[in-house]
Amino acid sequence: MSRIAVYEPSVGSEELANLGEALAAGELIRGRFATRFEAQIAGYVGTRFGVGTNSGTAAIHTALMIAGVKAGDEVLITTLTFIAPANAIAYCGAHPVFVDVAEHHWQMDPEATRRFCEEACRFDGERLINRTTGRPVTAIVLVHFLGMPADVEAFQALAERYNLTLIEDAAQALGTRFGPRMVGGFGRVGCYSFYGNKLITAAGGGMLVTDDPALAERARYLINQAKDDPVETLHRTIGYNYRMTNIHGAIGCAQFDRIDHHVARKRQIAQRYRDGLSGQPGVTLPDEPADQFWTFWLTCIRIDPDLFGPDARQLLRQLGEHDVETIPLYQPLHRSEAHAGAVRVGGRVAEALHAQTLTLPSSISLGADDQDRVIGLIVDAGRRARSAPSSRRSASP
Ligand SMILES: *Cc1c(COP(=O)(O)O)cnc(C)c1O
Repeated sequence: MSRIAVYEPSVGSEELANLGEALAAGELIRGRFATRFEAQIAGYVGTRFGVGTNSGTAAIHTALMIAGVKAGDEVLITTLTFIAPANAIAYCGAHPVFVDVAEHHWQMDPEATRRFCEEACRFDGERLINRTTGRPVTAIVLVHFLGMPADVEAFQALAERYNLTLIEDAAQALGTRFGPRMVGGFGRVGCYSFYGNKLITAAGGGMLVTDDPALAERARYLINQAKDDPVETLHRTIGYNYRMTNIHGAIGCAQFDRIDHHVARKRQIAQRYRDGLSGQPGVTLPDEPADQFWTFWLTCIRIDPDLFGPDARQLLRQLGEHDVETIPLYQPLHRSEAHAGAVRVGGRVAEALHAQTLTLPSSISLGADDQDRVIGLIVDAGRRARSAPSSRRSASP
């Protein structure tokens, strides 16, 4: 039996055809595919402009810069996510403020955020100031985690009330809808990633989207080394080499043609896990509300070891012995040495999720037989531990 990975990219002959066309045209850096891909993503999300970058991290860094985040500012962000958006905040010389997540959907907790703004800060009608640090809080980076949307409306209201710029990190949630609209299109700027494990890939690359022509133009300027003259190489400000290449775009366009299929497959995979596992003692999966549409980028299960038997790390090792890869959730960022000393807001839900949650194989190409094998191994692992006389469950009073 072959190894089952958490994620494998799904590429086909269309990628090869586009790459051949890009190379034949001599369009490596700038070219028709990069431009088309920008228009496709912006159109899909429902925004006016898309600006391609060479990574999702670069898109977020650029978004923060064009949104006016400055050195010394504080920026609110969930503590439970990939580290990239927090690093992008640090690239600006700003300070991430890590907010805990809510139990039911694992996204940044709007209640904890509101309490922080109300109780730990003062608002002078224009600026929100953290009373403890004395620093201005100027933006929210709202991450949509694991293909599920954060509480967009609650954060829009907070952003409005406290004059904060709302930036969305939808790197894990391309195609996810909150109400009728796609996430990434709610904030002043939305950001995506086309890294190899994302819903669609461009072999790396990212994009920011916005409805504001001035912001789009500013972003394009900054990611092209802030070149100020069409002929002379004159620069009034420090720019970045962050542009998306046409080679990224060629792969991205081919992937985009199959995006509906990718979304449908992710949803099928999530549903099969739900059918196979939701009745197991101590296993929970988040629930998709009727007014949302989730892409289920990666399916994760939460395991209560007192009810299930093994804990998440034990299960990870047991599945690994059967050549099934699973991975733990991200370490909460307030625990990360890279961001030591950062302000932390709210409770300990993210820490509990980090201890209890496993990411299951979720490749587009995952076959039903392989998925059933994964489900069977999880069910067996729990059953075996619960029936073993020496298990920690039966040993405890
Ligand atoms: C993947 C990811 C990014 C960064 O994207 P890269 O393209 O790898 O730089 C940012 N935020 C989140 C939430 C991600 O999952």
